[in-house]
Amino acid sequence: MRYVSTRGGPAVGLETAIMGGTADDGGLYVPEVLPGFVPGDFSTLDAFPDVATNFLKPFFAGSSLANALGEVCRAALNFPLPLRQLEASPGALSILELFHGPTAAFKDVGARFLAHCMEHIIREGRFATAPVTVLVATSGDTGGAVAAAYYRRPDTRVVVLFPEGRVSPRQQHQLTCWGGNVVSLAVRGEFDDCQRLVKAAFADAGLRSRHRLCSANSINVGRLLPQAAYYALASLRHWRATGRPLSFIVPTGNLGNGFACVWARRVGLPIDRIVLATNANVTIPDYLATGQWLPRASVPTLASAMDVGNPSNMERLQALCTDVASLREEVSAVPVSDAEIRTTIVDEFRRHGLPWCPHTAAGLRVYRELPEVELTRRDWAVVATAHAAKFDTIVEPLLGAPVEPPAELMALLTRPAHFDTIAPELDALAGRL
Ligand SMILES: *Cc1c(COP(=O)(O)O)cnc(C)c1O
Repeated sequence: MRYVSTRGGPAVGLETAIMGGTADDGGLYVPEVLPGFVPGDFSTLDAFPDVATNFLKPFFAGSSLANALGEVCRAALNFPLPLRQLEASPGALSILELFHGPTAAFKDVGARFLAHCMEHIIREGRFATAPVTVLVATSGDTGGAVAAAYYRRPDTRVVVLFPEGRVSPRQQHQLTCWGGNVVSLAVRGEFDDCQRLVKAAFADAGLRSRHRLCSANSINVGRLLPQAAYYALASLRHWRATGRPLSFIVPTGNLGNGFACVWARRVGLPIDRIVLATNANVTIPDYLATGQWLPRASVPTLASAMDVGNPSNMERLQALCTDVASLREEVSAVPVSDAEIRTTIVDEFRRHGLPWCPHTAAGLRVYRELPEVELTRRDWAVVATAHAAKFDTIVEPLLGAPVEPPAELMALLTRPAHFDTIAPELDALAGRL
């Protein structure tokens, strides 16, 4: 499989797409052609590493990673991704729990997979000269997942940029508890400033080659591919159990997760509707409503990992769809306010006794607001993107009850933390690279 830029640049191999992050023309890499599957192609497979290996095989064909794919999937995708049914038909509601990895958010899937792929590529030495610097901007969860995935990996440094004061205390701890080959920098600004700095660093040819910069953001195709694989897994499980396709509600910020779901449906997995749940950052819902793409500064919300005013992966969705009308067929988007997130956290805890993070709550709110006909016609899964214990300062006061952190998260929270703060300017970042 070759990869092309959304802006039309020349096709490159998977290794170049993974190590480069963005294409030289500033676009995002996408597969030159999408493969095709039918559910029967996965008939005997149920464990996630096996489903992922089968799903990703055509995307890896012809690359130096093709033979290592099974090993990468087994090593990186080694935690459970349960699809838990909460309510029966009609209006069947399941939760796709993506928060059982080392940093308790779905970002672990992409970050771990990418780290294992890069390690193979660097070890082979044909596509990258060691050591490399992985530069990553985070709205809260990516940075922790990437730091955890690359910590102590040979020939790799990690520089994490996070917006000062805009991540939860536990997220911040996860971002800053590493040391060693991980440098954590708070940027005086918001997530979009962090993302802008990363883009500017990559656009600077001198910086890029001097530090051998690689990206681990959701713009990296090596993160999106394994995310598409868990939509394959969940939809196949539902298909086998019911003979029906599954519709997904995806809490959305930079649109990596939602776009991965679109890819999984495009290649033939039994996925019906895809609904994006956003917070008060309404660039995507506005675009679908008006047809005008108007990126803007982000506003802070309770679902801070979704505080994105200029969602990068829209460029990939636009490249798949010729116009806004066809884009509207691909996805819909519903904004959720902080007040709605709060009441949903409380209501859902009353209903099922389960605590959900603010992002997942946004998704659940969208489910509760679905028109009756959507409930009778389709089965739904809300994607649970992080564990509620990562957002304890929001969730616990609402519930009046403690939310027990998973053991992996506890282990990180007991490590000492350290970070420096920089101005939102390329010069300040360059001095730290
Ligand atoms: C990153 C993140 C999101 C948003 O995902 P995108 O791929 O950026 O759309 C939602 N919820 C949580 C908990 C996240 O960490």
